[in-house]
Amino acid sequence: MSKFLDERYSSLAAYVPGEQPQDKKYIKLNTNESPYPPSPETFAAVNVNETENLRLYPDPDGRVLTKKLADCYGVESENIFLANGSDDILNFAFMAYGANGRKSYFADITYGFYSVFANLHGSDYTVIPLEDDFTIDADKFCGVDGCVFIANPNAPTGLALSLAEIERIISTNPENVVVIDEAYVDFGAESAVSLVKKYDNLLVVQTFSKSRSMAGARLGFAIGNKEIIGDLHKLRYSTNPYNINRITLAAGAACIDSQNYYDDNCKKIINTRAYTTNELEKLGFSVLPSKANFVFAQSDRIDGGELYLKLKEKGVLVRHFTSGRIKNFNRITIGTPEQMAVFIEKTKEILEDK
Ligand code: PMP
Repeated sequence: MSKFLDERYSSLAAYVPGEQPQDKKYIKLNTNESPYPPSPETFAAVNVNETENLRLYPDPDGRVLTKKLADCYGVESENIFLANGSDDILNFAFMAYGANGRKSYFADITYGFYSVFANLHGSDYTVIPLEDDFTIDADKFCGVDGCVFIANPNAPTGLALSLAEIERIISTNPENVVVIDEAYVDFGAESAVSLVKKYDNLLVVQTFSKSRSMAGARLGFAIGNKEIIGDLHKLRYSTNPYNINRITLAAGAACIDSQNYYDDNCKKIINTRAYTTNELEKLGFSVLPSKANFVFAQSDRIDGGELYLKLKEKGVLVRHFTSGRIKNFNRITIGTPEQMAVFIEKTKEILEDK
């Protein structure tokens, strides 16, 4: 850290992303990417023409993609906001509704970026502990006096709240924005998008990084009431109006045109999740019932950190968190059936060697 850094940022603990190792080829089950490539239509959209057009700035409003998303989700274009990954949107949401001493609420075990953004923007934030079984008690988020952030399904647990519980949180906080982060919703949870027309305090955040195989392209979107979307545009135009590049905009539009391909991939991942859960349970793991493209599992037979390291030695990368209540768990992204068979086989070997 230099002596020049503004003192507001000197004690900031930055977000630590999962490893993106370059040393060797791993079976990579650590950052919840899709194991499947983008659709043929998406490949075709990233073409010579689009590359030639890179000399031109992209459309700052991404109108073609915005319209496609609006049609896909049954809303108007003015209800859609595009950004450079959903992290970009969460950043804007904290900036808009939870900054400079304003209050915000999120779970103690949830997406690690919430506390980073809250600190970055000087939010007066409260963390609400999950229950002993790692579920969220919706009542604890009802009628609070600040902006609410809920990942549904939650990460890294994979557990989801029902739409009725989500609606209760939204309806009991009419004076505050409720952000529902649906990064993993396409893998089996209920989306809150249908509530956008009913509530003016709801912001639903989604991403192309998981179910649409585009983590490397950096594309997120939000759906909400047009005034809220207007707030986010104001902040975007005050920071980086060209926050999504041309290639990503073209690829995103092609994704929506080939939605069936991505829906099929989600079905495959849901099936492979069932297989993985079952196999882990046979090995004595307890696995939280996941609605996401990962499972969160622990075993009394091996320490979570040890399993992570031994799997890494054997070429399989999973995600281990070192904090308190979850330090015996690993979060395992669902890959292809073949990758998961290798993961199970290596886990079995590690347990047998003990
Ligand atoms: N929300 C949650 C709950 C996540 O796990 C992630 C992925 N790290 C994100 C948002 C951000 O995803 P992206 O910026 O790739 O859209």
